[in-house]
Amino acid sequence: MGDLLADHTTLRLGDPADRLHTHTDPTTWPDLLAELSSRTWVLGGGSNVLAPDAGHRGTVLIMATRGITTTHGPRGTVEVTARAGEPLAELVAHTVAHGLSGIEYLTGIPGTAGAAPVQNAGAYGQEIAHTLTTLTAHDHHTARTVRLTREQCRFGYRTSRFKPEPGRFTILDVTLRLTPRANAAPIPTRTWPKPSTSPSGRPHHWPKPPPA
Ligand SMILES: Cc1cc2nc3c(=O)[nH]c(=O)nc-3n(C[C@H](O)[C@H](O)[C@H](O)COP(=O)(O)OP(=O)(O)OC[C@H]3O[C@@H](n4cnc5c(N)ncnc54)[C@H](O)[C@@H]3O)c2cc1C
Repeated sequence: MGDLLADHTTLRLGDPADRLHTHTDPTTWPDLLAELSSRTWVLGGGSNVLAPDAGHRGTVLIMATRGITTTHGPRGTVEVTARAGEPLAELVAHTVAHGLSGIEYLTGIPGTAGAAPVQNAGAYGQEIAHTLTTLTAHDHHTARTVRLTREQCRFGYRTSRFKPEPGRFTILDVTLRLTPRANAAPIPTRTWPKPSTSPSGRPHHWPKPPPA
């Protein structure tokens, strides 16, 4: 029996996939591509998926590539590129530690940097689309790796061009343009009140953070 999808998803649902591969080394991407079939399902942290009870007939590819690099951007900004498997919270922590502002409200969102553009992850009025300048993705339809601009990502509220075309693109990295600020700081998630829950235990109300 293969790896249970339930072990890789927040909802703890899903029987085995035919094959489950955790992708950690970007240099192996070309070889990996040659092995992937059209029935490949890409996952990040598994926090926003409902894995089928019947498992997945094909490969589940978990994007776990890590790495953050920075370069100078225009007008004193800093461009931060994160590989797809970088946990979003760690990316936020990294940027804040370097005095960079622009994604600090995203700190409480579970999941990876590579998945954030899919539903244009956001919180408290800040969303990944606000700072994303480009991303690199593999287009499985054209078999080409492409660099897409923010406009080409067609972001909307909790949506993007990637959402209605599952399986077409694998996002490999994202580049954000951030602003140096002396007081860049994540919102204090640990002091938030707990969400009220429905009888099933599922949160039905996410509280706002206390005023700074
Ligand atoms: C407790 C909780 C709180 C949350 N709060 C918020 C919130 O405040 N704001 C918010 O926006 N979301 C929130 N979410 C939803 C979720 O955290 C985000 O959607 C997050 O971006 C999903 O990241 P992930 O890595 O877990 O993606 P996954 O769940 O693994 O995947 C989500 C989708 O993206 C695709 N995908 C994943 N990685 C890639 C990739 N590299 N390339 C192409 N496609 C990919 C998958 O195929 C799938 O369709 C919350 C979820 C939970 C469980």
